[in-house]
Amino acid sequence: MSTILSAKTVTTRKPHACWGCGIKYPPGTEMKVVTSADRGLDTAYWCRTCQEYCNRYLEPDDVVVSGELRFEDPEGWEAIRQELEQRGASAYGMGCRSGRCEL
Ligand SMILES: [Zn+2]
Repeated sequence: MSTILSAKTVTTRKPHACWGCGIKYPPGTEMKVVTSADRGLDTAYWCRTCQEYCNRYLEPDDVVVSGELRFEDPEGWEAIRQELEQRGASAYGMGCRSGRCEL
């Protein structure tokens, strides 16, 4: 179980790997930064897909091993990623983000 010291959403200025899926996201990505006090001070970055995945499927006390969300459930994770991408695309009026016009 984690002791969360702080959690905030930032727009990254450097590339950061997401704790939940292990994907490295480029600067300018909106990610959640969680600082916890498990082993000294730990800072983890979470992408939107993993945040949503945690909201839906995990209990607040569940411990996530780095990269586990996408590794353990690639189809479920991908479904959420596409859902968020489509929602984002329509919200911003852009249908072709990331070259994924077919979605
Ligand atoms: Zn992630």
